[in-house]
Parts: sequence; structure tokens; C-alpha cells
Amino acid sequence: MQSLFVLLPLLPFLHALSLPRQPLWCPGSRNPGNDTQLQLALLESGNGVAYSIIKRQAEEPRCGLSQGNRSCGFGQCCSGAGFCGTGSNFCSVPQNCQRNYGFCDSDITPAGPNTSDDQRNARGPVPYGQFIFNCTTPQTLALTYDDGPSNNTQELLDILRSVGANATFFVSGITNGKGAIDRTPEWINAIKRMDAEGHQIASHTWSHPNLTDLSSEDRALDMRKNERAIANILNKYPTYMRPPYLACTSASGCLTDMNNLGYHVVDNSLDSQDWANPNNLSAMVDTFDSGLGQALPNGSMLLMQHERISVSAINLTRYILMDITQRGWKVSTVGDCLGDDPQNWYRTPARTEPATMAIDGCVVSSNGFCGTLDVFTNKQECDDSNRNCYTQVDDCNSANKGAACDKMKNICDFQSLYCASCGTMTPNISCETKDFAFTNQQ
Ligand SMILES: [Zn+2]
Repeated sequence: MQSLFVLLPLLPFLHALSLPRQPLWCPGSRNPGNDTQLQLALLESGNGVAYSIIKRQAEEPRCGLSQGNRSCGFGQCCSGAGFCGTGSNFCSVPQNCQRNYGFCDSDITPAGPNTSDDQRNARGPVPYGQFIFNCTTPQTLALTYDDGPSNNTQELLDILRSVGANATFFVSGITNGKGAIDRTPEWINAIKRMDAEGHQIASHTWSHPNLTDLSSEDRALDMRKNERAIANILNKYPTYMRPPYLACTSASGCLTDMNNLGYHVVDNSLDSQDWANPNNLSAMVDTFDSGLGQALPNGSMLLMQHERISVSAINLTRYILMDITQRGWKVSTVGDCLGDDPQNWYRTPARTEPATMAIDGCVVSSNGFCGTLDVFTNKQECDDSNRNCYTQVDDCNSANKGAACDKMKNICDFQSLYCASCGTMTPNISCETKDFAFTNQQ
């Protein structure tokens, strides 16, 4: 064990810090719960504040299904190819991380009280817990976009605004290494803008699992994480969801679970198939045209697109908006095209501490941390990250967040010590986030 200040962080506190694409805990192979020395050090740390710098342990680098079901060490992720490591190439879901063989981004939990005690009464005319394939309002096209927010969101919102059209966004919480939606200023702003401009925000789960394959408990957990994250941004969360891969069978109990969680389960009447040829606009246009051609003159359509595919989100959307207007149809959200009052599209969480609201990227968790810690990989970046840490404390102070600012300042102070010493000491501690860990146990 190569350590200077001995201590491993306590898991419950870690989600309080935002660390895009990288879990903020020691990637060493030890499990703190089983290590008497570490436990002792934890007790001896005094004043309720524990610091740790743990040198990364030598790891068995292979893992996963093809590697004898071997799991990675504590805090490390098992990549799709079966290697242990950290960062989005190892940890991002759904594609790069093998769940159950180590840590994955899906294991991150948004800050704030969970939504498990919330009342989930059925409201309005739209059925719960069963697939909805189409709109009920004639001559209406519901535009829906999965997997966002993304780098295309702002431009897509500009396009929709330019013609006064509204759409439904099935947002996922922490997929593709984009960082948690409630901890990333870009995504916080995108989701706030969607809401402010009259679009419907719906859930596409937290981590994009195949819900059919999960236990009831894990399904609820994943859905609730996205609820908390969205509520951290909007102080409300959706009653509409679309299962990833459209997979949610009744045989698995998934539809019953969605019913119990109070969700309308949205499929589509036309898949744009943008995923099949993500760069081929004419193929998408053909699919759309032929789908529309088959619709009755008084019919409707619930179209599925993917926000991250820019040809679809930008170019196909432009085409559709032009085409549909000529046809005399109107563009709509899913809620509107089903005749559901916008009040029924969301629930308000029973427990929301004002301090859990994300304000321009400054998240104050229920554990009371304010701010985020930038990832760093060398001494220079460590210093930059540290400067930003203190800037956030200043912001936090000017927003009168009180004790939350002090806690964040503790982190900055310790990071400052770490940056000053890293790369220079024996044993040599690299200046990397993965070798820096902090916990504030109070
Ligand atoms: Zn998806």
C-alpha cells in the first residue's frame, strides 16, 4: 500500500462531487470495508475530516465475461473489450463498460433525496404501463428525439423555435461519457431551454440499460436516478418514458414496474431508422416519406429519431418541418398529440431540498458539497482544476450557500496541497485525478 495520507473515501459522499467521466475515488484494489488498517486510519483522522492520497495499485488488467468473469479492482471499470481502467473508454454506458465486473458510470447516483417515497397517482386520459404507438389527435406528427441532450440540442432547438414547433425529448442521464445531465452546465442549460421553450422532457432512463433484462429493483433504481437528475434541473420529473431498445416486456414484469412507477411507455408509429444509416439523409427522407404516404389523410404519426445523429436531428428535422406544413399537419409533443394536459407530463418530487437544485453547474448535494472538480492528468491541469475549484467556492459564496461552500473549500484546500506535492514525492504520486481522492465525513 503506497500511501501518504492514508484513507479511502466513503462511498456515500462521492456522488456529491461531479467528476465527468471519472469516478472520484481511489482506483486501488482494496475494499475499504475489509481493511482494518484503513478503518483505523479513518478513525484516527480526527475532526471528521479525512484525507487520502492513494497510489493506484497494480491491477490485473483483464476482466469480464471473456476473462473468466474476473472483476476489476475497487473503483475501476471493465471495458467492453475486457480491460480494467478509468475514463470514458472504460466506464461509459451503454457501450464501453461491462456492468457487474467493476464500476460503471451507471453506478453514479445524482445528488439529492431519492424519489422512492413519491406518490405516483394516475392522472389524465393516457394509459400507464402499456406501450403507446401513435398519437390520437388527427393530422398530427409527434417529433421525438432519444438519447440527448447532445451536441446537436441547441441547433435543433433553434430550428424548432424558428417555426414555432414543439417536440418531445427522451433524455438519458449519464450515457456515452457525456457526464451526468445535472452536473454538466451544457446539459443543464439544454434541458432548461427545452422546458422554457415548451418542449416535453421525457425519460429515456439514467444509464440506457435493456430494462427487460433487469430485476424490478434495478429498473426502479435506474428510473429514479433519472428522475432525481431531471428534478435537480427542473424541480419536476417526467411521467413519459421510452425504454432503450424499445425493450420492456410484460413477461419480464417491466411494464408492470413502469405502471407502478407511474409512466406512460412510448413506442413509435414510425422509426426513422436514422441509426441504420446515420449519414444517409436520403435514406431517412425515403423512410419518412413512405411512412407518411401510408398514413391516412386524417391519421397521425409518432416519429422516432435520435438526437445524437446530427443528420437526423438537424437535416431530417428541417425536411420534415417543411414537408409536414405543406401537408397541412401540425407538429406536436407526445403529450399534446395524446390530448394530455401538460400538467400531467410531470410529477413534483415530494422531497426536494432547495439546495439540491443545480444552478448553472453548481450542484449542492444533500451531503452539502457545492461545486465540481475538473479532471486532471498532470501538474498543470491539477493547478488549473484547483483554481477552478476556488472560483466555484467564490460563486458558491456569492449565492449564499453557506456551509456547502466551506465543504467545497476543504476539498480545494486539500487539492491545493496535493497539486503542490504530486509528481515530486517518493513514492512518486502522479498528478492525476484517479490518484487523488477526498472524503469529508461528517
Ligand atoms: Zn436510446
